[in-house]
Amino acid sequence: MDTHVARSAEAEEEAALLDTIAKWLDRDVRPHVLRLEHADEWPAEMVEQMKELGLFGATIPVEYGGLGLSATVYAKIVEKIAEVWMSLSGIFNSHLIMAACVSRLGTDAQKAEWLPKFASGEIRGGLALTEPDCGTDLQAIRTRAVRDGDHYIVNGTKTWISNGIHGSCFALLVKTDSEAKPRHKGMSMLLAPKGPGFSVSKKLEKLGYKGIDSAELVFDDYRVPAANLIGGIEGQGLQTALGGLELGRINVAARGCGLASAALMDSVRYSQIRKTMGKPICEHQAIQLKLGEMATRVQAARLLTYDAARIYDAGLRCDMEAGMAKYFASEAAVENSLEALRIHGGYGYSKEYHVERYYRDAPLMCIGEGTNEIQRIIIAKQLVERFPA
Ligand SMILES: Cc1cc2nc3c(=O)[nH]c(=O)nc-3n(C[C@H](O)[C@H](O)[C@H](O)COP(=O)(O)OP(=O)(O)OC[C@H]3O[C@@H](n4cnc5c(N)ncnc54)[C@H](O)[C@@H]3O)c2cc1C
Repeated sequence: MDTHVARSAEAEEEAALLDTIAKWLDRDVRPHVLRLEHADEWPAEMVEQMKELGLFGATIPVEYGGLGLSATVYAKIVEKIAEVWMSLSGIFNSHLIMAACVSRLGTDAQKAEWLPKFASGEIRGGLALTEPDCGTDLQAIRTRAVRDGDHYIVNGTKTWISNGIHGSCFALLVKTDSEAKPRHKGMSMLLAPKGPGFSVSKKLEKLGYKGIDSAELVFDDYRVPAANLIGGIEGQGLQTALGGLELGRINVAARGCGLASAALMDSVRYSQIRKTMGKPICEHQAIQLKLGEMATRVQAARLLTYDAARIYDAGLRCDMEAGMAKYFASEAAVENSLEALRIHGGYGYSKEYHVERYYRDAPLMCIGEGTNEIQRIIIAKQLVERFPA
């Protein structure tokens, strides 16, 4: 098959997949969002539908039962889902970061054992990095794994873990050597299925991001087989986590694009219906200025996100581009959701509209997968590295 034909077949497949997702969102998700959001209810039925759609295997290679999608197509799917209900994307996104840790750095035996079950959604979970007294400074984690024969014994606490209650397995960042210098050499990543010694100590209540469970996890003499050490070698945990976070940042950027776009489109529609001073508010220049800025932000956020995804797909280092996309798109979501709230006037503050949800959900994108302060530092460091004086 020549490259041109192969590319157009790929483009057709991509369009068909995005169309299937769009129809599912319209038929099975959109009508239920307000109810589930305000009840903070985990969307059990939608999770089953997401399994059928293959979303839990979206970026897992085809040979392991996944869809093997590129980061670019994945970003487009995440954006579409976040336009309707951002919480849903969290249910498969952090699961896929766990899967990416295995598919990028796991041994062949680990890939064969875990990836097919992750892809089908039979085993679902996420990434457990953050602890009560450290998130950004991951090298300060205190969860310890001590080797005992062909097992590790784990003790410690992780917090803010997405899918912590409904998930059954987590990529768990631990210290295997607390004395190591530099500190990251003593860090390892384990695949930790729930079992004796691994408990959920509490469900965390949040401003937004409702429906998806965020939890504190406690490990109390939890025994995990040494065969679950991702990559089979101690000391690679931070590298494994940071590798997974590149895809994570592209996904957060895509969520930002989805939220920013939803806030824009709700405002475009509302401003044509709502009239003041005898004309639709979209004809007032003050509103037009807002819409113009909002639309430009959405477009810029998308271009940055697709650019980062393209570089990731080419197998190149993309921490600067993913950082830029994540930073810009999440700030765009925050700004657009606030502007949408203003455009909707009093109704923007009402729980009957989606706009107040965008306003509550958007700030999370500035925190997760590395705060926006850290993204700007990463960008600056990369600039200095790439352009030495
Ligand atoms: C809803 C939700 C879901 C989450 N899901 C997960 C999950 O699934 N798995 C997981 O492991 N974690 C998860 N997290 C945790 C999240 O990744 C952390 O909250 C985030 O990394 C920030 O860490 P922190 O909260 O400890 O803040 P801190 O690290 O204490 O930072 C506090 C402030 O200081 C700034 N700061 C810190 N260090 C520096 C520095 N060197 N220079 C400049 N500024 C700095 C930060 O930008 C921030 O503004 C989730 C959090 C939330 C709220």
